[in-house]
Amino acid sequence: MAGSAPVVGVLALQGDVREHLTALRALGADARPVRRPEELAAVDGLVIPGGESSVIDKLSRAFGMQQPLRERIAEGLPVYGTCAGLIMLADELRDAIAGQQTLGGLDVVVRRNAFGNQLDSFETDIPMPALGDEPVHAVFIRAPVVESVGEGVEVIGRLADGRIVAVEQGALLGTSFHPEVSGELRFHERFLAKARAFAASRAA
Ligand code: GLN
Repeated sequence: MAGSAPVVGVLALQGDVREHLTALRALGADARPVRRPEELAAVDGLVIPGGESSVIDKLSRAFGMQQPLRERIAEGLPVYGTCAGLIMLADELRDAIAGQQTLGGLDVVVRRNAFGNQLDSFETDIPMPALGDEPVHAVFIRAPVVESVGEGVEVIGRLADGRIVAVEQGALLGTSFHPEVSGELRFHERFLAKARAFAASRAA
C-alpha cells in the first residue's frame, strides 16, 4: 500500500548499523544507511546505532553531518539512539573523552561506560509497562546510564537498582542497551510509529 512503508535511516558512520537495518526492515520499513546530508534529508526517522560515541562524534564532524543532524533533530525528526546513539542524543555527557561533543536534543545527563570494567557486558530482563506486559530482554555492552532527566522526559525503563536505561522525549527515544541484538522489536516499532506520524505531518 502506498505510503505504508516509512522511509527511515540508520546513521552509518560506525557501529552496529546492519542489525538495525535488519530490525527495521523486518517491521516493513524502507530502511537505508545514512552517511551524507542528502541521505539524511530524505528520511522521516533516524536510528543512531551502538558503537563508540567518540568515533561517531568525530566522523559526524569530519563528514559534515553534525550540523545537519542537529538541524533535523531541532525540526522534530524522530530519532532512536541505542547505547552510543543515546550518548549522541544527550544534552549533557559525563566521562566523555577530551573534546567529545554530542548532538543533543534529549534533556538528560548521560554517563558513558557507567558499569565499569567488572560489568562490561551483561543481560537482564526489565519490566517496561509502556511497551506491554512482556519484560524487555536487555543486552548491555559497555553501556551508559541516564543519571538525571529534565521535566519533559519520560522514563520508560529502570534497572532493579533504579538506574534509568530507557527514556523518551517527544520524537526522541533512547536506550542504554541493544534491543537490535536480542530480537526485541518493540522499540523499533515505537520509533516507526513516530516516523509514520512525522511523515504524515509533513505531507499534510
Ligand atoms: N562505550 C561506548 C561509547 O562510549 C558505547 C558502547 C555501545 O554502544 N555498545 O560510545
